[in-house]
Amino acid sequence: MIPTSAAELDAADPLRECRDLFHIPPGPDGKPCVYLCGNSLGLQPKSAAGLVQQEMEDWARLGVAAHLEGREPWLPYHEQFREPAARLVGGVPGEAVMMNSLTVNLHLLMATFYRPTRERFKIVIEDSSFPSDSYAVASQAAWHGLDPASAVVRLRPREGEHALRTDDVEAALEREGKAVALVLLGAVNYLTGQWMDMARITLAAKRQGAVVGWDLAHAAGNVPLRLHDWNADFAAWCSYKYLNSGPGAVAGAWVHERHARDTSLPRLAGWWGNDPATRFRMGPEFVARPGADGWQLSNPPIFSLAPVRASLDIFNRVGMDALRGKSIHLTAHLESLLRQRPPGRVNIITPSDPHHRGCQLSLVLPGVPRDIEHRLRERGVIVDFREPDVIRAAPVPLYNSFGDVERFVAVLGGVLGA
Ligand SMILES: *Cc1c(COP(=O)(O)O)cnc(C)c1O
Repeated sequence: MIPTSAAELDAADPLRECRDLFHIPPGPDGKPCVYLCGNSLGLQPKSAAGLVQQEMEDWARLGVAAHLEGREPWLPYHEQFREPAARLVGGVPGEAVMMNSLTVNLHLLMATFYRPTRERFKIVIEDSSFPSDSYAVASQAAWHGLDPASAVVRLRPREGEHALRTDDVEAALEREGKAVALVLLGAVNYLTGQWMDMARITLAAKRQGAVVGWDLAHAAGNVPLRLHDWNADFAAWCSYKYLNSGPGAVAGAWVHERHARDTSLPRLAGWWGNDPATRFRMGPEFVARPGADGWQLSNPPIFSLAPVRASLDIFNRVGMDALRGKSIHLTAHLESLLRQRPPGRVNIITPSDPHHRGCQLSLVLPGVPRDIEHRLRERGVIVDFREPDVIRAAPVPLYNSFGDVERFVAVLGGVLGA
């Protein structure tokens, strides 16, 4: 029998127990709320607090000696993320590092990979890019003495459409041709939820000789990635959205092996990127360590890295394939409920082809009350609202259920008076 009710779907879900690995915030009735906001701040793994506490204890017990003698010594602490972080984005060991925050990493990577010349100086981004990305690329152009108005090319969807067509992206890259220095796109757009055709776009940009960077803020932990095989140049992501590592958590950076090995690449350097064999000789000469590790600046904030352990451990155990399998199903269920029992005037602007989206659906609700977020929250549903009329709902396969999706649609209908 094919399960159809939410209860049956949840009972048949092989990942149903993953929900118990997380703290689900209570709604006003004290029962777990319907949390569809993992695209903004992922929930706390129950294992995170103990890992932070362990570092607090080691600091108390050992002081500086915890760098070498802690249960998880601080000196090589970041090295434990090298493989799981690379696996998450489809990289090979040595290509990924957890450091800094997302926008900082974008700047550091652009310091290496955006090297404009008189002929080749443009940066291509999507028009609906996250503001921080827009500011970052415009300020990079200005930093190099260029006018952002001519150096930054913003890709817009066709009139009346919300998603970018890959054909149009390819055509734009062809049109800009050799003037393109860097293509820096959100792999999954934060607003529309569109997942770009990363393989095709990377190829099209390479054909013009451009460098390709991906912002994986809404992609890491959401969709399966194969950065190495797609032959991208660099990528960066934050860990507090789908990766559940806590507010402002330490972010990720990825550099393709062919660059990661090249210790002669120009970069903004700091001592943690230096070869560990000579780091503590404290000499003035910087010797980059091979791998993405060579882009590190500072010794990392251990208390902010500790929750990343909890997160990557869960991703390692569950695996992106299983998560993606459930995710496709869960989001399709939300989509079909919204179509069958529309809770009012709802226009789904996220592509309906699963190859072009992750878990998030973005809903345009014309004339929606401004306090919709608050009204839903009073009824135990947490989603996020973007002016003037977009609700982003992200059923996350790790901790959301089919029951959550049903409750969301019913509550939304109640609030919109359907
Ligand atoms: C969430 C997000 C950011 C946030 O940047 P931080 O440096 O982590 O504050 C930047 N870019 C995109 C595309 C995002 O989705």
